[in-house]
Amino acid sequence: PPSRSSVVIVGAGVSGISAAKILAENGVENIVILEATDRIGGRIRKEVFGGVSVELGAGWIVGVGGEVPNPVWELAAKSSLRTCFSDYSNARYNIYDRSGKIFPSGLAADSYKKAVDSAIEKLRNQQETDRGGDFCRDTEPPSTPKTPIDLAIDFILHDFEMPEVQPISTFLDYGEREFLVADERGYEDLLYKMAQDFLFTSEGKILDSRLQLNKVVREIQNSRSGVTLTTEDGCVYDANYAILSVSIGVLQSDLISFRPSMPRWKMEAIEKLDVMVYTKIFLKFPYKFWPCGPEREFFIYAHERRGYYTFWQHMENAYPGSNILVVTLTNGESKRVENQSDEETLKESMEVLRDMFGPNIPNATDILVPRWWNNRFQRGSYSNYPAIVNHQVVQSIKAPVGRIFFTGEHTSERFNGYVHGGYLAGIDTSKALLEEMRKEKERNSQNQSFL
Ligand code: FAD
Repeated sequence: PPSRSSVVIVGAGVSGISAAKILAENGVENIVILEATDRIGGRIRKEVFGGVSVELGAGWIVGVGGEVPNPVWELAAKSSLRTCFSDYSNARYNIYDRSGKIFPSGLAADSYKKAVDSAIEKLRNQQETDRGGDFCRDTEPPSTPKTPIDLAIDFILHDFEMPEVQPISTFLDYGEREFLVADERGYEDLLYKMAQDFLFTSEGKILDSRLQLNKVVREIQNSRSGVTLTTEDGCVYDANYAILSVSIGVLQSDLISFRPSMPRWKMEAIEKLDVMVYTKIFLKFPYKFWPCGPEREFFIYAHERRGYYTFWQHMENAYPGSNILVVTLTNGESKRVENQSDEETLKESMEVLRDMFGPNIPNATDILVPRWWNNRFQRGSYSNYPAIVNHQVVQSIKAPVGRIFFTGEHTSERFNGYVHGGYLAGIDTSKALLEEMRKEKERNSQNQSFL
């Protein structure tokens, strides 16, 4: 193992890479990045499926078209990454029932409005309770959805972020448009481009000993004079500082042990965050049998069980002729399918599709089911701050503990859960660390002149 470094960065996802880049640009050359898997990218990951490149993790650049440019959109422009505008606004008018009929648009609109009103009401009540007030003495409690269409709408409203209920910083700052990445180089190309700026690469491969792949950090010792990290394969890395970019799910798990253990305020803050699981299941068909015209990219299946294969997308806009459908599951349903065989999931998907499009549609010839929840280096898809959370929790999540600094999408107060959140968090954390290094240097030189 290398001798003592200035900074060890744990994790080579977007936040780890952006943190490392800022350090390198500011003259901190002596860094090491330890990454558990055999690649950089983390939750940005493509795979070739059915002849095209699909994104198993982050798929969209979210927040485009506003006054302030989204930094990730700028990176994409620099790479000429191929993207495709996604128009969600019509999804709610393409809701199928179990007999394959589309709900009349008036009914769908009413149900949507009811769901939005009830969500706003619920949020207001929560805010009142949070302030210690009495609420709702004279009004009915918001109704809970029961019919398939109400359940389907409740699902898209809450398990996907819909700005109708609560303003979303990403949309406020960067705009409300979303673009699907549809490029054979993958979303991860942005990370390779960033890495190339400071790591040695040849023929598209990173060949730089500062990036150490297949290094699973299992223990971090934090002392007054430095940090010591031990990996699963028994390597030991000494450094002045560590930046930890692993996901909130990993922090909540016991993958990494800390000596001394993390202070209570830190643990409590980490436990407060919810981990969302978001699963895109890809299905390949011999030919397409779903409608493809304008405003048909997204469609919804209404079932008595909430979240049961509810949200569908065809990939014809991104890759014409690819004959691929994507269905998105979340949380409980995600965990359920992660724990069953792909054949089982294929069977369930086909039953749902036959409900919507009739018995004569062809079987899917291939299926891809990502497993973010059962992945011990992820333990979920992204962080979710509960609707009412005080500013202090975010501060505690990002606050350093001794010589360990924290980064990752979950440390971004405005943009957690997004690629740009991770990217900006990496920059913020490195800037804070550079400031700390400057102060330490100053303290040391004062001590020396005193002696
Ligand atoms: P990560 O990418 O998780 O990086 C952390 C790294 O740490 C990983 O590479 C991991 O392998 C490594 N690691 C973990 N444990 C250890 C260890 N013990 N030792 C060493 N290394 C370790 N965002 C969007 O903007 N748009 C989207 O459309 C979108 N959709 C998403 C869909 C899915 C299915 C998922 C999973 C995420 C989605 N996101 C989306 C969120 C986005 O992907 C993340 O916010 C972002 O990529 C997180 O980057 P990060 O650097 O914080 O974490």
